Amino acid sequence: MPHPLGDELTELHVHLGGSVDPAALWGIAHEQGIRLPTKDYWEFVDLITVGKRERKSFEDFLALYRWTELIQSSPVAVEESVYEVVSGAYRKANITTLELRYNPMKRNRGGERDLDRIIVASIRGLERALLEYPVTAGLIFSCDRTFSYAQNEILIDKAIAYRDRGVVGVDMAGPANPDFHYKDYAPLYRKARKAGLGVTIHAGEDEGWQSVEEVVEYLEPDRIGHGIHAAENASLCKRLAERGILLEICPSSNLHTQVVKGPDELGEFIAAFKRHKVRFSFNTDGPEMLQTTLREELKLAVRSDWVTKEELVQRGEWAKAASFVHGRPS
Ligand SMILES: [Zn+2]
Repeated sequence: MPHPLGDELTELHVHLGGSVDPAALWGIAHEQGIRLPTKDYWEFVDLITVGKRERKSFEDFLALYRWTELIQSSPVAVEESVYEVVSGAYRKANITTLELRYNPMKRNRGGERDLDRIIVASIRGLERALLEYPVTAGLIFSCDRTFSYAQNEILIDKAIAYRDRGVVGVDMAGPANPDFHYKDYAPLYRKARKAGLGVTIHAGEDEGWQSVEEVVEYLEPDRIGHGIHAAENASLCKRLAERGILLEICPSSNLHTQVVKGPDELGEFIAAFKRHKVRFSFNTDGPEMLQTTLREELKLAVRSDWVTKEELVQRGEWAKAASFVHGRPS
């Protein structure tokens, strides 16, 4: 029987902390005896999601992860969370190619839990979902802009160590940090690339186009997380197009965190990418936290006249081709 929602979709940019159904997360929290700040389920939902019409600053948005990351900080919780996201993406949106990213070091209570146990549990959650649903999926380890170089190096080394067991790529994410420079990380991402991992980096989201330029120059990414502000520089756009770097655009996320002025500006950015033939795909960033689905993001893109239905199909093909789950794109 065909999936009731129709075509199969690919999603490349989803954070574990923003993607677990609140009811599942509520269950996981209670199962582990975590003392939540509220005993009221709906207050809890409010604590970990953004309201439909609400707008948050980029920092406020990242603060929502505090509770979800804490609840996910045990092997059992990570396994259940990954399982929920991968299986839920199939059921709720017919996503059959999925990359799920998270930072294992934000799930081990500052070293209290063994990092390898957390990682293996996430792989187990992934495998369980793959056994049950017709999905291809992989994990991406996110480094963090506020972590030390040594911490991020551990994350890259772990991604390499688990490369043949479900980890397909590495990322850089997290809050802004004035002491952080992409450039410093060139050796680490080179090592990851050499080991066969895909490289995607958050840039040009809360930062200007310069951040994307720095990432392209020093980290040689296959893809950029968001990257929308790259649209403000034509020569950078040309470079992205020449190198075939795909931008993972997350419309609702950008509108909520106000890293774009509004739908019109986002539309102008997308138009610039189309003009310069920059590849991009649409993503949710975290469907549960943002109370959206990939299907809703695609509808929004067509309704807002950012892309036609035909262009949407093309973006879906690009997303699939740029996915790390079938091996790094050549
Ligand atoms: Zn992201």
